[in-house]
Amino acid sequence: MIEQRRILATSIPGPASRAMQARKTAAVSAGVGTGLPVYVVEGAGGIVRDVDGNQLIDFGSGIAVTTVGNGNQRVIDAVTAQVNAFTHTCFMVTPYDSYVAVCEKLNALTPGDHEKRSALFNSGAEAVENAVKIARHVTGRPAVVAFDHGYHGRTNLTMGLTAKNMPYKHRFGPFAGELYRVPMAYPYRWPGGADRCAEEALRVITDQVHAQVGEENTAAVIIEPIQGEGGFIVPPEGFLPGLAEWCREHGILLIADEVQSGFCRTGDWFACDHEGVVPDLVTTAKGIAGGMPLAAVTGRADVMDAVHAGGLGGTYGGNPVACAAALASIESMEEDDLAGRAREIGEVLLDRLGRLAEKYDEVGDVRGRGAMIAMELVTDPETREPAAALTSAVNKGCHERGLITLTCGTYGNVFRFLPPLSISDELLHEGLDVLEEAFTAAVG
Ligand SMILES: *Cc1c(COP(=O)(O)O)cnc(C)c1O
Repeated sequence: MIEQRRILATSIPGPASRAMQARKTAAVSAGVGTGLPVYVVEGAGGIVRDVDGNQLIDFGSGIAVTTVGNGNQRVIDAVTAQVNAFTHTCFMVTPYDSYVAVCEKLNALTPGDHEKRSALFNSGAEAVENAVKIARHVTGRPAVVAFDHGYHGRTNLTMGLTAKNMPYKHRFGPFAGELYRVPMAYPYRWPGGADRCAEEALRVITDQVHAQVGEENTAAVIIEPIQGEGGFIVPPEGFLPGLAEWCREHGILLIADEVQSGFCRTGDWFACDHEGVVPDLVTTAKGIAGGMPLAAVTGRADVMDAVHAGGLGGTYGGNPVACAAALASIESMEEDDLAGRAREIGEVLLDRLGRLAEKYDEVGDVRGRGAMIAMELVTDPETREPAAALTSAVNKGCHERGLITLTCGTYGNVFRFLPPLSISDELLHEGLDVLEEAFTAAVG
């Protein structure tokens, strides 16, 4: 394993990375952006090493994917063995055991102890598409309700479900029909204040669906139990249980999009577990398979089995190498108590960011759970005007100092922290020192 140490060998990005970025510009569509163009040669634990010999502390996990860490020995061994055995047959043609084993694990680990079934796909967006297909098929209803600040992917249907125009939707329409958007319970920005957010949001949402869509026309409500790209928005206590209850009353399926929040990220197996919310369908991807592309829909057996044979699937869905990686990742999560590790990381992050918030008015809100923590930056704590320019300046400062950070939020003013759960306390603290240094330099 590479040494768990930050190293600044050149400026970041260094000359070799800059040369590769020039080739990238000439070869890769400009539509595919790169947030921090250092070209990676190796990664393990909490460190990513680039072609110039720089070693960066990883606070991003490739967007919440390498939850068990790059260089995870269980994943390496499982993937290597599977590649040697066979790489593909297509589960729909000649099946194999690891696909079934992943589904068994998903059925056991996702919220609720009812009978469940799963189906495997390649990406989060594909899982969301299939959850919507299933919900429409089983209910015979067309409408799907999504939320302000929601993010569900970049395919046509999931762009329609995603809230933010730039960069995800701009000039990529028209989008699919029968998608409706309602306000999100966003405590920091709820007009009536955080205390009234849960109750008022539920009233607004249910009123809007009743008046504008009709409950009996609504197949599903899809929600991220903690919103990801939209700003790590944590709904207030009571909101998700209330939403689940209302859905149940009206025969509307609740789809929890746990693509970013799932698999120990928030200190539970799934973010829904925190309040004991049991969705009808759960979508997963990202952290599921140690970096290999895999996604799933898991849900009530009666719902999942309502679809005719051949109605779900795809050439690569549940690829055997990805399934082997998923089984090894889940074993790591179980054996190494990674949910517990996520809670420890969360305590450190909340403590250190809380102290930063006491020092600087620009830190308007610190929120999140486990190793899914964010700070929202504002120009003024009274008006809560989003501080997008400051956010990108601090982000740049972190990158130059060898810390991989990510931002998010509808207004581009939220820092999100998603370290791999394999990061050491030492690197975690050093990363936060770097953040503080970059922050102090940027606020001036
Ligand atoms: C990333 C993400 C998706 C899309 O996943 P892809 O694998 O990029 O298609 C969907 N939903 C949520 C909540 C996500 O964070």
